[in-house]
Amino acid sequence: MSSHISCNKTFRAEHVGSFLRPDDLLHVRHAWNDKKATGIELKTAEDNAVNQIVKLQQDLGFHGINDGEYRRHMFWGTFWSNLDGMKEIVGPDPGIFRPYIPDVARVFGGMPICLSVAVDKRLEAIFIQPLDLSRILEEITADRFQKNHKPGEAVICTSKIGYNPAASKAHIEQLQYLQKILPKENHDDIKLTIPAPNWYHLRYKDGQAYPKDVYKTDDEYFADVITVFQKELQVLYDHGLRNVQIDDPNICYFCNSKMVVDFDNDPLNTIKADALFDKYIDVYNKIMEKAPKGLSVGVHLCRGNFVKSRHFTEGSYDRIAVRLLQNLKVPILYLEFDTERAGTFEPLQHVPADKHLILGVVSSKYPKLEDFDDTVARVYEAARYIANGTGRTKKEALDQLSVSPQCGFASHSSGNAVTWDDMVAKLKLVKQVTEKIWPGEA
Ligand SMILES: [Zn+2]
Repeated sequence: MSSHISCNKTFRAEHVGSFLRPDDLLHVRHAWNDKKATGIELKTAEDNAVNQIVKLQQDLGFHGINDGEYRRHMFWGTFWSNLDGMKEIVGPDPGIFRPYIPDVARVFGGMPICLSVAVDKRLEAIFIQPLDLSRILEEITADRFQKNHKPGEAVICTSKIGYNPAASKAHIEQLQYLQKILPKENHDDIKLTIPAPNWYHLRYKDGQAYPKDVYKTDDEYFADVITVFQKELQVLYDHGLRNVQIDDPNICYFCNSKMVVDFDNDPLNTIKADALFDKYIDVYNKIMEKAPKGLSVGVHLCRGNFVKSRHFTEGSYDRIAVRLLQNLKVPILYLEFDTERAGTFEPLQHVPADKHLILGVVSSKYPKLEDFDDTVARVYEAARYIANGTGRTKKEALDQLSVSPQCGFASHSSGNAVTWDDMVAKLKLVKQVTEKIWPGEA
């Protein structure tokens, strides 16, 4: 049975990418951070863990195989920090961040999640103790220099942005390992996740995301970002990638009315929130103009996914639905729909016929397994909204859908508050639901 839906690389049973790391991989990674394990030992542990997670995906009947992001600490990897013109900053002034951006506001009361990756164990302590920003920063900084922990990542533009092969290196290595262990006939299905082109931009106050003597406007800044992403997609395609998922946790911040109001009330901002949202959509569209024709491109949106299942923002798709679904020229969207914080399926009435939606109706944050019949019913409900809103038949609407967990299981290597067995049960449920709705399809 054909596993392809139109020219897009989508399957009925999908996942968003990151999976829980096995304990032995985390152990070696922490030891490597402490210089108590070698790079070869880390690579061996990663290889073994990737073999395991690839086999699990195959055994469960998933086809868009990925490496679980096991070679990354955070979902965004090392792409941005290796571009020309982007630099990691140590001990940044908290005043450069927009304090109302949900991850900035929620995690550190003023510092973004990019700074929170320094010390896993401390992170857990931070979440259960009252925040003391100066103490946290002091400790993180001390760790970085005294204990050789993997540095945190506050990355910012300091000069003209340009492509650098070093930025692609990790992506290519991750892809090539999967190509090595998977049969050739499966290579086109391999899925690689990459960070979003608007990543890092939103969190910085107007005028702080880049030096004004380098770029006068956001448009000038994004013109170079667009070129870099076009180049990256081409490079990955040339190495055999045919299935890419761009992870964009910032887009759903615009679902949050409070964020929008705070943004619009910020006297420093020279643009309104909705206009900035449109600009981000335009950035994607310009990238897509030069995306390799045979490359399937999807974007994953969610409301945050951080250590121990934290989320950052809330709000249904209503505020952005028409512009997101109709203006964004990316053909595949992975959408969160597992809890009420993502609202109802009603906004799907605006889905155009050329869009494929992966419905994230199974939580990757909570261990409780969703009811099988309820989950099947929810997919039919989504199809009903599409059919009723667009005049397409229910069958046509169903054909535009797939099912997945609502996000990864470990956007941060420490993972969500679910067990390995919970994760496997969730993935099995996704597969069973798709077999019920689309029997015989992959
Ligand atoms: Zn997500």
